[in-house]
Amino acid sequence: HHAKRRDNSTCPYTQAMHHALQRRQRMTERLSVAISENQLELYFQPQVDLASGQLTGAETLCRWHDAEWGWVSPSEFIPLAEERGLIRALGDWVLEESARQLMAWRQQCAMPLPGRLSINISAQQFADPQLTHHIAHLTAGVSPSAIALELTESDFMRDPDQAVEITHTMRQAGYALSIDDFGTGYSSLSYLRRFAADALKIDISFVREMLDNRHDRTIVQTIIAMAQALEMKTVAEGVETHEQANLLAEMGCNEAQGYWFGRPLPADDFAAAWLNK
Ligand code: C2E
Ligand code: MG
Ligand code: MG
Ligand code: MG
Repeated sequence: HHAKRRDNSTCPYTQAMHHALQRRQRMTERLSVAISENQLELYFQPQVDLASGQLTGAETLCRWHDAEWGWVSPSEFIPLAEERGLIRALGDWVLEESARQLMAWRQQCAMPLPGRLSINISAQQFADPQLTHHIAHLTAGVSPSAIALELTESDFMRDPDQAVEITHTMRQAGYALSIDDFGTGYSSLSYLRRFAADALKIDISFVREMLDNRHDRTIVQTIIAMAQALEMKTVAEGVETHEQANLLAEMGCNEAQGYWFGRPLPADDFAAAWLNK
């Protein structure tokens, strides 16, 4: 119920939009500098076997600390990078740095990282038909058997036929493949079978409510049953309590990630906590 104004720029709505646009523009510029000047960081979150509690791998998560803004969330800067054409440069850096870190841990740590390091791949990286070669090039020195690639369910479904092809190329090259945020992306069952993925990552939104909400509990149970039928393993995301971990283990979920087991940590802290550095 604002009165009509002669000068649109003083309308609060327009002003808010203007500020949001301005912030995104400045963020694009600063992110571009951060990528090229090596100011991004990788954090690592443990993945554990639910039955034994043993470490089975880790996920690489990109972090950006800006001098003026402080920590910027990946849920803000990753979509921005996708929209403004920066995601390939960012994704390349993540792949190179992940490989460098794996090799450094092998030199420094009493215990090497068991299993695989999981790396998130965005839809635009996935659209590159040469992606598998490109990854091999960027991670030269690390065997594909040490790497899992994570792609969200909705990204898989953007061009499912192409996804089927690329996932087979990746599997043939020795990479493992996980479908991230599973349960939110409407994939069809027939494609799910053809994607040749190794793991379904049960989206955090179902895990969060599963103790209180029986529908979410049913969805989790159904995802686990489906994965078992299709010979894929399940990894639960966002496990924050002992109760969630117990219930997931009872339900037959294979692995989990979440604050209950360990927060994402900088490489040195991760190595100290998990690799006996
Ligand atoms: P994601 O791949 O599904 O990663 C899981 C997210 O859940 C991470 O958020 C992680 O920090 C968070 N998380 C882990 N355990 C818990 C928990 O117990 N409770 C809660 N509430 N959250 C938990 P983060 O690091 O903010 O990343 C958000 C998303 O940004 C990622 O979701 C992924 O889609 C994207 N992302 C992060 N790093 C990269 C990257 O290097 N490349 C690409 N393409 N995307 C990335
Ligand atoms: Mg992920
Ligand atoms: Mg996820
Ligand atoms: Mg996510």
